[in-house]
Amino acid sequence: MTGPNVAEARRGLVRLSHQLGDPAADLAILGEGNTSAALGDGSFLVKASGATLGRITEDDLVRLDHAEVLALVDDPTLDDHDVAALSARLAASHEGKPASIETMLHALALDLPGVRVVGHTHPTAVNALLCSDRAADLVAGSLFPDQVVVCGAHALLVPYAEPGLPLARAVRRGLAAHVDEHGAPPRLVHLANHGIVALGENAAQVLAVTAMAVKAARILSGALAVGAPRYLDPETVRRLDTRADERHRRAMLSLREDR
Ligand SMILES: [Zn+2]
Repeated sequence: MTGPNVAEARRGLVRLSHQLGDPAADLAILGEGNTSAALGDGSFLVKASGATLGRITEDDLVRLDHAEVLALVDDPTLDDHDVAALSARLAASHEGKPASIETMLHALALDLPGVRVVGHTHPTAVNALLCSDRAADLVAGSLFPDQVVVCGAHALLVPYAEPGLPLARAVRRGLAAHVDEHGAPPRLVHLANHGIVALGENAAQVLAVTAMAVKAARILSGALAVGAPRYLDPETVRRLDTRADERHRRAMLSLREDR
């Protein structure tokens, strides 16, 4: 893919990064967080390593071959903790600045059906729970209807793994188990002692999932402060999720018709 579409994707990803990296949103500081977008031609854009999310420019986006990065996750010769070998392989796969250490995580997320844009952040409100012994409560059920509509019926919690290949491999295991159990990938992935990954068809969905994940975490913290969380019953959640899917499907159809 070349020309105006790539230029548009770059502009869109910079805009999303600035929104997620806005200090007022309290989702990422310093070099925290990263974003990516599929270009639809087997390649994707991801944030360069160390760039500040809220201030990145188009020069801080790196373009990589999707299959090549996925192959790194599968490569048995790459040791989980050999960061130098991984960095060398990543550096050899593209031109320009070094890609984010979470590039493999993004490649896995962008490989899921319907996912074209990914935002990974470290929201203080969510991490307060992810760094506690109540992290599992984040995925034990849904607390309110809009949480289901925006984040889906089932979020995934991945146990702590070191950034880079160990995390990518843990996420791959988690996603496979999630799809086996629920028949569909999650829209929100919680990473224990680390942060969240919001998956979307576009930047607006990534922003919405992130914002709702933060709100749900705040509500859960409040519920835990006054007692125990009382989740919606599974049948209600299922109905809300089905309706959300229907609304989403209609919205996508009308978007297509508007073109
Ligand atoms: Zn992170």
